[in-house]
Amino acid sequence: MNETTYYYPQKMGRIILLGLEEVIGKGGVDAVLQLPIVQEISQNLPTLSNEQTFSFKAVSQLQQALEQAYGPRGGRGLALRSGRASFKYGIREYGSMLGLTEMAFRLLPLPTKLHTGAHSFAGLFNKHTDQRVRVEETETHIIWHIERCPLCWDRTAEEPVCHLAVGLLQEALYWLSGGKVFSVEETACHACGDDHCTITIQKAPLT
Ligand SMILES: [Zn+2]
Repeated sequence: MNETTYYYPQKMGRIILLGLEEVIGKGGVDAVLQLPIVQEISQNLPTLSNEQTFSFKAVSQLQQALEQAYGPRGGRGLALRSGRASFKYGIREYGSMLGLTEMAFRLLPLPTKLHTGAHSFAGLFNKHTDQRVRVEETETHIIWHIERCPLCWDRTAEEPVCHLAVGLLQEALYWLSGGKVFSVEETACHACGDDHCTITIQKAPLT
């Protein structure tokens, strides 16, 4: 259907699998990787290299495999939690490059951290992957537009399916704010026929 192929670095594929392993255990990951839909991944497990060869299709197939293995509801919950767990591995790999782990950044006021963090996080995807993110800000919200999204690549669905991104952003916000919880919701998804995937974040924390 879609002939163009886009990629994540191998390292990001690895980070996703590590996050998933934290949620369902090594045995769970091994079982999911037995499914025919992820045959390509299980035959070429992602490495820690920066080589941009982990396809968007593979990212999407992994999300679908979770739904096949645990049912649509269970799969969605696990995708969300695996996104949260992935953040820790991501920040370990990319944090210093983004300048987000420096003391000067940690000491900024929350609104500045949210603004700077969102743009620098978007820049990571825009510069180092084929994913495209555009950040829009209003008085009350940060709107994270994923204009080319690996999570729902080549999928059609009734409801938004990019739960991993929601989890990742939830955890990023928790970390940035030093332990606050934010409302993060996927309000549009390419898989549902929307133009692109949109994740809407309330700037004011819930707690
Ligand atoms: Zn998506």
